[in-house]
Amino acid sequence: MIDKIKKILGLDIKNDKYALIDDEMFGKVAKAKKPERWIRSTCGYCGVGCGLYIGVKDDKAVYTKGDPAHPVNMGTLCPKGVSEHKMVHSFDRIKSPMIKKEDKLTEVSWDEAFRHTSEKFKEIQKRYGKKAIAVISTGQFLTEDFYTLGKFVQLGLGTNNYCGNTTLCMASAVMGYKHSFGSDGPPASYEDFSHADTIMLIGANIADNHPILKLHIAKNKKITGKKPTIIVIDPRYSKTANMADIFVPIKPRTDLALINGLCYIIFEQGWEDEKFIKERTNGYKKFKKHILTKYPPQDVAQITGIDIKTLYEIARVYAGANRALSAWTMGVNQSSIGTDTVSAINNLALITGNIGKKGAAPFSITGQCNAMGTREFGFTSSMPGYRDFSSKKDRQELAKIWNISEELIPQSRGYSYPQIIEAIDKGEIKALWITATNPFVSYPNQKKLKKALKKLEIMVVQDAFMSESAKEADVIFAAATWSEKEGVYTNSERRCNLAKQALKPYADSMSDANIVIEFSKYFDGIYEMLFKDFKTPEDIFEEIKEVSRGRLCDYSGMSYELLEKRGGIQWPCNQKYPKGKKRLYSDDIDFATPNGKANLLCVEYKSLKEQSSGDFPLTLNTGRTVEQWHTRTKTKNIRILNDLAPKSWCEINPKDARKLQVKSGDKITISSKRGSIDELLVKVTECVREGTCFVPFHFADKPINDLTVDEFDPYSFEPNFKQCAVQIKSRKVPEGIVIKDKEIAGEISYRKNAATLEEKTTYKERSKNDTEN
Ligand code: SF4
Repeated sequence: MIDKIKKILGLDIKNDKYALIDDEMFGKVAKAKKPERWIRSTCGYCGVGCGLYIGVKDDKAVYTKGDPAHPVNMGTLCPKGVSEHKMVHSFDRIKSPMIKKEDKLTEVSWDEAFRHTSEKFKEIQKRYGKKAIAVISTGQFLTEDFYTLGKFVQLGLGTNNYCGNTTLCMASAVMGYKHSFGSDGPPASYEDFSHADTIMLIGANIADNHPILKLHIAKNKKITGKKPTIIVIDPRYSKTANMADIFVPIKPRTDLALINGLCYIIFEQGWEDEKFIKERTNGYKKFKKHILTKYPPQDVAQITGIDIKTLYEIARVYAGANRALSAWTMGVNQSSIGTDTVSAINNLALITGNIGKKGAAPFSITGQCNAMGTREFGFTSSMPGYRDFSSKKDRQELAKIWNISEELIPQSRGYSYPQIIEAIDKGEIKALWITATNPFVSYPNQKKLKKALKKLEIMVVQDAFMSESAKEADVIFAAATWSEKEGVYTNSERRCNLAKQALKPYADSMSDANIVIEFSKYFDGIYEMLFKDFKTPEDIFEEIKEVSRGRLCDYSGMSYELLEKRGGIQWPCNQKYPKGKKRLYSDDIDFATPNGKANLLCVEYKSLKEQSSGDFPLTLNTGRTVEQWHTRTKTKNIRILNDLAPKSWCEINPKDARKLQVKSGDKITISSKRGSIDELLVKVTECVREGTCFVPFHFADKPINDLTVDEFDPYSFEPNFKQCAVQIKSRKVPEGIVIKDKEIAGEISYRKNAATLEEKTTYKERSKNDTEN
């Protein structure tokens, strides 16, 4: 009553709610939720891999705070990290396993869910063969989770039709590294951002997607004594472009031509590092001829829309740097020429000797928290420990470690993600098991996907949240999420981080590894063959260490204890490098090719298959925003994030806005050959060039992947998410945009402080002060 009166009189200043109290770890915290304990862990959202502490009170996560001693983030977190504890207690958590009965998902016991699913899987395999089951994994799992899942799928279920959602984001980087260096594995460290003279960001909006990396760039001047020259190459003037000294607004998907054009200028001007090329690369003569024949600056200017003078300027700044770092993300990878574009970036680094030393590398930044872990031990596109399905030696090694017959190990990879969807559509695959991913929002050309998935006899979704895909499932396996299970994530710089368990799994959920292990008991002899020694996550980790021993991604010198103590360790970590290794391919690590040298590859620019014209005159680009995570399964119920980015939008250039007679806040309809979205909010901005537009892919109620094209890279199978032809219509201009003349050349709208060419030095001279650990 007193409280009510106080409230009416305006005297209730919520003293108790907002009172602060001293905490031994983090100073002042809210009194009402002062943690009883802090658990040192790792963020479970993105591939940056920030260290954090989870505050726990009354068996609930009440705080996440950045770990000040962690080398990745030094105490800072982005908005998603700061609010991560709220995700665990989201109201749409899945409480228990479910089976669809009379068209309604109904809670059941684990025994019923496993029995029902195993019987259905066995029946399908009996009728259609073992490979009639396919599995889609995820970069959200802990390494222990998908290592267990991979063993079960490939060796237990006996199907190699197993791929991951990482095909939608990182697969092109994997294949590009394999083609150039003989193996996957990002060669750099985040600290290279602090040591580089030139930083070239290609299709990488790190300000939105990897914001903590900006801290490492911010340290550069203090360390090197001068500000690095930052080149941002992007068709969109993203938040990251604000950091640029040279902003390069290329036409969509022309980055490969641009990079080849830079190589031309470098050869023409004699700026290449001949000594490095001679000592450490294959294919120089052929590569040089290819570049000088096909990529003269005048042609590259036509393709990219960047004037010749600027092309020379970028080449000078990059080749003239003692240490040049090139980093990229989805703008490069999510393309039907993504693999070749990665190889082109690698070529540029190789001809200038920018690899294997401090501040210099071609560096792919990963998207999901454990996209790297799936690459190392996922058992999808390669076998655990970066082993090759086609290598008898590799298969023999694994069979010995696992104490199984070599015959059980497949000799080739099965279908990739898009091939699995095709095979479902053709009726070849009858059962699909989806884990911690949400294709009903994330996959391109949604209409085609949904039509195909309707043909399945059973779709199992394993997830912690009632995602759009889970709602369509026949069976749901209820999974624990971040903070409710224990294991490791590998971040973009090869740092294996420990993510500790702070809470019990929610309701009747189980950790993903435990779900797989328990499910395996419903298949004769499989548990005994594969998992009988797995009692704890650390048991799984110990086996992973054995599998990695002697490989490039060597974990053999790690332990959970060391990972926690050191804030993660970068592989390889073994007897030779007991503290891990900051960089790959320094003088003491050969490239993973037969002769130890990197390959210079003759890769070609190809124009977009779906060109904007006629009925669809604009080019659509899709991407992310810092407040939301992928398809929002984790973020849509976190108020602080949703208040910042509550709704989808479409960015259009002011010139296009004039044509459509719209202003910011109006609504438009956007459509492609594949679908249409109505009532999408307009943001009028110079960030996108005329004739292009941008829509984030997070929002299921405005599913932009209804429009995107199902065209894939031939090596990585990654979708060409970033460009497709669209039309925009408004109420005042219902016929949409009509473009009469096609633009040929672009313009540099922002350029300042471009560094001048420093004296050309040889690889040896440049490297002599570069110490490696
Ligand atoms: Fe988490 Fe990535 Fe944000 Fe770091 S940058 S707090 S890893 S989401």
